[in-house]
Amino acid sequence: MNTIESGTRAPRLYRWYSHAGERHAIARALAAGDPGETLCEESIASVSAILAVGFYPTCRKCSEEWGKQIAQGNTS
Ligand SMILES: [Zn+2]
Repeated sequence: MNTIESGTRAPRLYRWYSHAGERHAIARALAAGDPGETLCEESIASVSAILAVGFYPTCRKCSEEWGKQIAQGNTS
């Protein structure tokens, strides 16, 4: 059950996640119910099973952080 989204060259390390009214990036490995942290270091007590939806503005800090990691080739 390994789905890699079309158009991506490398498996993604993060995914978008709706939290506190914004779309943040969280580690892809986190499963529903896990405690976690967004890329901008907001803690999440328990990751929701609901995936990010398009209605929230993207967290700029998460977006920049993610971009940096990709630029460094840190995608696996
Ligand atoms: Zn964020």
